[in-house]
Amino acid sequence: MGASRLRKTAKTRKTEASRRQKSVLASGAMKTLASYLGGEWKEGTGKESMLLDPSTEEILAKASTEGLDFAAAVRFARERGGPVLRAMSFAARGTILRTLSRAIHEHRDELLDLAMANGGNTRSDAKFDVDGASGTLAYYAQLGQELGEQRFLIDGEGIQLGRSPRFVGQHAVLPRRGVAVHVNAFNFPAWGLGEKLACAILGGMPVIVKPATSTAIVAQRIAELLVATNALPEGAFQLVAGPPGNLLEHLGGDDVLSFTGGGNTAATLRAMACVARDSVRVNVEADSLNAAILGPDVELGSDTYNAFLRDVARDVTQKTGQKCTAIRRVFVPSDKIDEVVAELCARLKEVKVGDPRADGVGMGPVATAAQQRDVRDGLDRLAAESIRALGNGPFEPVGVPAGKGFFIPASVFVQKDPDAAKAVHAREVFGPCITVMPADDAPRVGDLVRRGGGGLVSSVYTDDRTYAADVVLEIGSSHGRVFIGSAKILDQTGGPGTVLPQTIHGGPGRAGGGEELGGLRGLAFYGQRVAIQGDRPLVDALLGRSS
Ligand code: NAP
Repeated sequence: MGASRLRKTAKTRKTEASRRQKSVLASGAMKTLASYLGGEWKEGTGKESMLLDPSTEEILAKASTEGLDFAAAVRFARERGGPVLRAMSFAARGTILRTLSRAIHEHRDELLDLAMANGGNTRSDAKFDVDGASGTLAYYAQLGQELGEQRFLIDGEGIQLGRSPRFVGQHAVLPRRGVAVHVNAFNFPAWGLGEKLACAILGGMPVIVKPATSTAIVAQRIAELLVATNALPEGAFQLVAGPPGNLLEHLGGDDVLSFTGGGNTAATLRAMACVARDSVRVNVEADSLNAAILGPDVELGSDTYNAFLRDVARDVTQKTGQKCTAIRRVFVPSDKIDEVVAELCARLKEVKVGDPRADGVGMGPVATAAQQRDVRDGLDRLAAESIRALGNGPFEPVGVPAGKGFFIPASVFVQKDPDAAKAVHAREVFGPCITVMPADDAPRVGDLVRRGGGGLVSSVYTDDRTYAADVVLEIGSSHGRVFIGSAKILDQTGGPGTVLPQTIHGGPGRAGGGEELGGLRGLAFYGQRVAIQGDRPLVDALLGRSS
């Protein structure tokens, strides 16, 4: 990622150290998270939400948005931020993104500490989130430089429409004149903010970001850092730190809503009057029962086999399984299922669970008490129909006061009759668990995987080209992404769980039907595609082309 190339200077490290002294953790005092609206930091006045450390249950901060004027915030974005961004070239917008990426990277250590405290992340989980944010911003900054002085995207070539080549039609994508509201999930407070912000700002739309309240400390600190750069034009960026209140009710036909979270919340938002009445454009990134498939050609102990085990085990424990792209269902040839289950259980037993700041801990708690209840309920449903090979025994998280913290041990389920099982294909358990099932050929794999109802990403581990092609054709159209884990590329990938900005993120059906990122494709959501018809020289001049 581009961010790894960014390096701190001694001076910025010093600045960072002094800022850390004042940070929410170092001060020891409970911080009230302010929202950034209308160019000012503002605190709500009513009911407060408490933000906890999920390892210790200590209250770290509080937030309220009651009494804040969201109608004014929406107007401020449309009237102040939008015109300035639209007048800028892609290169100039890219320069803003480069500055934002650097600001996050320069404060990386502070942000990692906050993610460990408020998100229960291990340091490695926290890096995944924070570096994902700075890396995605840096990637879109580079795209901005490459697009140069253009201010909107030209879509394809001019098309002759009349008898002579003079009369042409040309598609272009112009920035929408409204505001982009970004509602994010609790599990990626940094990356979720960065990946959406990058596409919107480069696309020329002002943004209001609303992170999930429970883990908003990281997002709110990032907002402070971004504002302090002074790189963002007035009105281009606002933050709601706390519950959404009536924010979304103010959206209209020029605005867009990009939502990441649960499918039920998405359904509520899609049913809002403004969405139905004014065609507010909505993108949804929701749940997914991602699958990993082991090809029949893969020998036990081979490189491809080991990569498959590595990626599955990583997805169970990384972010404590709270990753929308995490593998939930594992399909293996029936003659290998016992070995696969034994190897996965052995690997997962080695992972120490506890306070991520304690030595050797490889998996932290889930983010909230509600999340812990929801995961336990989901595990009970899986246990009612499958055999639990791991996760049943006595369990003592390390480094935490007795009885405290929202911990869940890793679970491995085995279901040898996938036709008899229902919950495994229907319920996304957003925690550290997988279910291993037999599937021996591509059509059977396709049938079982598609029972998930549409997903973000599934993966097939094979070195057999025919099997890879058969599986991709079986499952491709019910996913946003398919990852082929073959021997030649295994040392170059972070596995299927890593979202890269170059390719799209999103998926049909249960996954929300959305699409984000994918290089310049990610900008399309923030623009209106318009067909411009007219005299060719006139159209060319308008597009900045010589005819
Ligand atoms: P959630 O409860 O649906 O909340 C998501 C966001 O929506 C939060 O910011 C929440 O704010 C806000 N929200 C809730 N009700 C709202 C309403 N009526 N109006 C406006 N905003 C509202 O989901 P979550 O528990 O944070 O996240 C877990 C889910 O997200 C999982 O199902 C996971 O699969 C999915 N997810 C998907 C992706 C993806 O890219 N596809 C990525 C990550 C997570 P408050 O926090 O203030 O309530």
